[in-house]
Amino acid sequence: RSGFVALIGRPNVGKSTLLNQLIGRKIAIMSDKPQTTRTRILGVLNRPGAQLVFVDTPGIHKPQHLLGEHMVQIARRTLQEVEAVCWLVEAPDREPGPGDRFIAEQLAGLKTPRVLVVNKIDQVAPGEVPAIAARFAELGTFAAVHPVSALHGVGVAELVGTLEGLL
Ligand code: GDP
Ligand code: MG
Repeated sequence: RSGFVALIGRPNVGKSTLLNQLIGRKIAIMSDKPQTTRTRILGVLNRPGAQLVFVDTPGIHKPQHLLGEHMVQIARRTLQEVEAVCWLVEAPDREPGPGDRFIAEQLAGLKTPRVLVVNKIDQVAPGEVPAIAARFAELGTFAAVHPVSALHGVGVAELVGTLEGLL
């Protein structure tokens, strides 16, 4: 099994950190340079029997008024063409903010399966995690919701298992 996974989420939620956990700093193909291409490959995770290709989606993270219609269309097409969307939010926010809601709008109406990743759970009390995850889960319909700490590698193996199942 092989497929593309769009890795999305507003700036600083931990996308690069998660990629480093998933793939390792040395192998990941990462660049913060602005690019106008439809997708950028961030990294490839090879697993026994599965290959996950993580891609960025230019246009998905920026407020729409800053983007041309062309970029919005490109982002939409990318989100339609990937096998899964992996959407990061961060637990210390405790509830969705404007940046998260902007992304929810971009995803509205798309059929692509999506997984919600509630990152940075090391920064909140363990007892708070279920309620925080439930609040973020109201942003949409998700195949799964995974609380993780990308920094410490907590919950990442379970996330990979879910993503493999969506390919
Ligand atoms: P990106 O903009 O979405 O790529 O976010 P980064 O991966 O660059 O992370 C932004 C900041 O959040 C960095 O300082 C990371 O070290 C920090 N960070 C990412 N994941 C975690 C986490 O699980 N726990 C904590 N405590 N910090 C994290
Ligand atoms: Mg980054």
